[in-house]
Amino acid sequence: MKKLLIYSCCLLCFSAACQNAPLIESVRIEKKDTIVPVKTDAGIVLASEQQAYPLSVQKLIKAYPGHFSGFEDNHLIWKDGTKMLWDDARKDKTFSQLINESDLEDQLTSMAYPKGKDAPKPKQKEDPGRVRYEPFFKKMYGASAEAVKKNLTTIVWLSKTMNLKLQVTTVNDIHKKMQEISNRLDTMPQLHKYLKNPGGTFMWRKIAGTDRLSMHSFGMTIDVNVEFSDYWRWAIKEEEGDGTRIIEYKNRIPLELVEIFESYGFIWGGKWYHYDTMHFEYRPELLTD
Ligand SMILES: [Zn+2]
Repeated sequence: MKKLLIYSCCLLCFSAACQNAPLIESVRIEKKDTIVPVKTDAGIVLASEQQAYPLSVQKLIKAYPGHFSGFEDNHLIWKDGTKMLWDDARKDKTFSQLINESDLEDQLTSMAYPKGKDAPKPKQKEDPGRVRYEPFFKKMYGASAEAVKKNLTTIVWLSKTMNLKLQVTTVNDIHKKMQEISNRLDTMPQLHKYLKNPGGTFMWRKIAGTDRLSMHSFGMTIDVNVEFSDYWRWAIKEEEGDGTRIIEYKNRIPLELVEIFESYGFIWGGKWYHYDTMHFEYRPELLTD
């Protein structure tokens, strides 16, 4: 068995997918007779070799190191033992159902986020990142305003030029990531007009016209300058936002700025058909290869 593991792993490591892979710490069985190397981050406990993790589960675990202990019987297992349902087995969800009744599997697999500045304009009903399983974010960042506040800290936004104080979460080291983004942007004066008067970071609230919590509730989201922003809700009525009405795409935010945020694990609301071009939120699971 040991021989088989080593042999299969080496074969796989010559594949294109493995060329850029960091240290391989373990192997596991994906399907019967197939052994897939798993790239792990510190703190992840892998399942036994007999268990199969769907690739999207691997992606989620890799994107949020330190939070999970495994995956079992269609449930993601958090380090404290909490089991969270992965797939509710409902296929053929409508667009509205994906947005309002998502499970974790939908969050990971229903819409692929196109990374980079050459991404095409979003097609109708393509909102990669708006499909979210709310209990996941409550568990990770805090299930109430008070719980989220316990994890907040202050960063200085563009300290050399603007020196604004913003509140962000320390969970997932987001405060450090946001500070690094800010330090980089401080040296790029051509982008500063888009970064002045940021629309906000933390605010526990529901998304206007819905029962869903805004990602601003969790302190891992920032709106840049509203003055240069476009938002689908400013263009059409709320009741027309079920994905059937044609919305004319608008954006004034430079993609140079978007690429910087993406490189730190933040997705951009300008890549949604229901665009929100001031909005960046920390969703590394959609940016992980
Ligand atoms: Zn926002």
